[in-house]
Amino acid sequence: MLGLMQDWPLLIHKIIDFAGVQHGAQEVVSRSVEGPIQRVTYRDLRGRALKVAQRLSRDGIKLGDRVATLAWNTARHLEVWYGITGVGAIYHTVNPRLFPEQIAWIVNHAADRVLFTDLTFLPILEGLADKLPSIERFIVLTDSAHMPATRLRNAVAYEDWLAEADGDFAWAEFDENTAAGLCYTSGTTGNPKGVLYSHRSNVLHSLISTGLDALPLAPSTSCMPVVPLFHANSWGLAFSCPMKGAKMVMPGAKLDGASVFELLETEKVDFSAAVPTVWLMLLAYLQKEQKTLSTLKVVVIGGSACPPEMIRAFEQDYGVEVRHAWGMTEMSPIGSVGYIKPAARAESYEDVLKLKSKQGFAPFGVEMKIVDDSDKALPWDGKTFGRLKVAGPAVAKAYFKGEGGDILDANGFFDTGDVATIDANGYMQITDRAKDVIKSGGEWISSIDIENFAVGHPDVAEAAVIGVPHHKWDERPLLVIVPKEGRKPTPQDLFEFLKPKIAKWWMPDDMQIVAEIPHTATGKINKLKLREAFKDYKLPAA
Ligand code: AMP
Repeated sequence: MLGLMQDWPLLIHKIIDFAGVQHGAQEVVSRSVEGPIQRVTYRDLRGRALKVAQRLSRDGIKLGDRVATLAWNTARHLEVWYGITGVGAIYHTVNPRLFPEQIAWIVNHAADRVLFTDLTFLPILEGLADKLPSIERFIVLTDSAHMPATRLRNAVAYEDWLAEADGDFAWAEFDENTAAGLCYTSGTTGNPKGVLYSHRSNVLHSLISTGLDALPLAPSTSCMPVVPLFHANSWGLAFSCPMKGAKMVMPGAKLDGASVFELLETEKVDFSAAVPTVWLMLLAYLQKEQKTLSTLKVVVIGGSACPPEMIRAFEQDYGVEVRHAWGMTEMSPIGSVGYIKPAARAESYEDVLKLKSKQGFAPFGVEMKIVDDSDKALPWDGKTFGRLKVAGPAVAKAYFKGEGGDILDANGFFDTGDVATIDANGYMQITDRAKDVIKSGGEWISSIDIENFAVGHPDVAEAAVIGVPHHKWDERPLLVIVPKEGRKPTPQDLFEFLKPKIAKWWMPDDMQIVAEIPHTATGKINKLKLREAFKDYKLPAA
């Protein structure tokens, strides 16, 4: 027997309708690409999104079409998304940090028909214009006063284009499983793969990822999504902020410490989310300028492992609670958040720090397991490592156009490619990407653990650990560091510092100093490139 409740489709435009009606006066504040701070209310943002939808449909954009955005976090970018999905088309977020050839590859793979872009990216696009045959029109997110001359096909200033619509338009109607968004993962091998979110998965992800125990959003919250919209929907905040009526403070193109600090203070931000590199810049700025944070209460840190010293700095020096989170583009992206359950409460701050350095526990709507190479489930004892697999209504079941084939196991779980432990309280800890784990004498060494400790050394700005070939043990760890300005730590300094913190056989065999560690387009250490750079390196004892 079926229940007798209504079929109310979970559609994204219902979120902006809700925000426009119930939180109509709430603001979305942006540092515009042109410079000045701009303010719009949810009521007006909804009205502008309706105009985008109306104008797109007049241009012939319809259900299932792909529309690209190459843009910073601003209200314009957000309203464009709601407009695109409101006609049943698909926003395709393009990461500007990709190489131009990669941008061309994914735009062509997606066969995007229209591309919205910020002024910042005109030079990149002009260089690529002949390689983007599917794009019928480039819409520049600015007004006519700031619109430069450009040879981009049918280019128009967004505000002029939008002014041709009156907003008297009704959202299109379709099934909740209709595709809404497309985001390519920058895999380290093979071609990028497109993750295709649905309206339903985005709405459910907003419900799954927010709450007192997750991303804490409410109408009283002033939230700054520093994490870009092109990085997995800014971890869902593009949808969860309006769904919860939270104020949004969009940092635009300026993510340096001084600019982020200024907006945090002037807009009384109490919650924010970003990758560790962004926070590193903010903390360095605060320390240098002797500033304090007067309103910030909680930060979510994820995308790559958050070093314990960063957690300590936020919590003890600035009174800001850190929630370490983990996720993936394929998971919409939130997979776990580090909120402390009563059962896990620790006595000393050092124990709290150990727990907070883990990546947290999976919220309702995300199922997790760790398995061995024969797919046998491993115990949740906090010690046993295994491949981390996940399932849930906001987890991918296939990639766009079937790229990568069948990606689920027989039980419907997706292999994250991460290696992790899970403890008795459900707290998961990432030890490595499966491809980065160092196999020494048949045992695994966690590169992330060593990196986390190494960046705790006062002379170290950034650290990476890679496995290098060894005649006896197969692989041994090599520590690569970028020293802080004016510092020159020796290998002995680092090894002495690491000695009480890691097992003896985990101790790196050598240390190398570099000027820069390579990063991926989403700010992760690019281990593939680093291994490539050290391919001719020989360990001293080998
Ligand atoms: P992306 O799809 O670009 O967000 O990358 C997802 C991958 O980033 C995950 O599979 C992890 O390898 C890594 N990652 C994300 N968050 C964390 C975290 N908190 N700690 C360690 N690795 C992380």
